[in-house]
Amino acid sequence: MRIVVLMKPVPDPGEERLGADGRLDRSVSAVINGNDEYVLEAALQLVEAHGGEVTLLSMAPAGMTDPIRKALAMGAARAVLVTDPGLAGACAWSTAQVLAAALRTLEYDLVLAGADTSDGGGGVVGSAIATLLHHPYLSHARKIEPFEGGVRVERISAVGHDVLEAALPAVVAGTQLLGEPRYPSLRGIMGARSKEIATRTLAEIGLDDRPVGGAHATTTLLDTRAPAARGSTRVVRDLDPAAAAAAIVDFLVERRAL
Ligand SMILES: Cc1cc2nc3c(=O)[nH]c(=O)nc-3n(C[C@H](O)[C@H](O)[C@H](O)COP(=O)(O)OP(=O)(O)OC[C@H]3O[C@@H](n4cnc5c(N)ncnc54)[C@H](O)[C@@H]3O)c2cc1C
Repeated sequence: MRIVVLMKPVPDPGEERLGADGRLDRSVSAVINGNDEYVLEAALQLVEAHGGEVTLLSMAPAGMTDPIRKALAMGAARAVLVTDPGLAGACAWSTAQVLAAALRTLEYDLVLAGADTSDGGGGVVGSAIATLLHHPYLSHARKIEPFEGGVRVERISAVGHDVLEAALPAVVAGTQLLGEPRYPSLRGIMGARSKEIATRTLAEIGLDDRPVGGAHATTTLLDTRAPAARGSTRVVRDLDPAAAAAAIVDFLVERRAL
């Protein structure tokens, strides 16, 4: 099975902070977007069980290769990085068009995306790509298994999970319920040094005269604010259940919540 994993390099959430302009400071180190690391693990397990290869596809600034190298060290065979100065400030719709155009130049059976990213957080790029490529789209996967000519997904729901099937090629968006990502082995890290990261410009994926990138963004970020500081917390403990319930009711009544 030929699997393409969409992998976005994002600022390390552990170092994440707002810059002086109120926007996310992107000078901190970059990591693999959390959800993408989980779908990569699922992809690696699928090729280990059923054969095939995993190709990474990223759209990011040219210097953001550390997370891509880490994903190669985990076991992906190669990577394609679409980068172009004109893509800075791209909206989700532009991103989907760029990644869909890059996918048209690749051979694959299955495309895996994360449910959303920890920086942009739109949660729409996977479904937009499926729409552009006329592929079935299966979202919020907690389990992915192939069968002859198709893929079966368990999709988390409010009451448990749904079981969905679709013909290949398909796009699946996965969640962290897919299972813990592996750590790259020393052998994997050494091997990743010689794996290919093929960079592609907009012209090379046939989009040089198309309205994509920051200058054509369909959405504009107007403001970003840190969450308001939380008030103090009162913990009710060491009371019997009836007294604890009464204490909670009193607390809510005091604040006119009841
Ligand atoms: C030069 C350059 C500068 C950029 N600068 C920024 C920036 O400052 N801020 C920013 O947020 N983005 C930047 N990008 C990337 C791009 O604009 C965003 O990826 C896009 O806005 C996606 O929105 P999202 O994060 O809400 O995706 P979501 O819809 O939340 O993503 C869902 C899933 O789609 C896939 N996906 C999303 N984006 C990418 C991607 N870029 N590559 C591979 N897979 C992806 C992942 O699997 C992800 O889990 C830049 C790209 C380039 C080339």
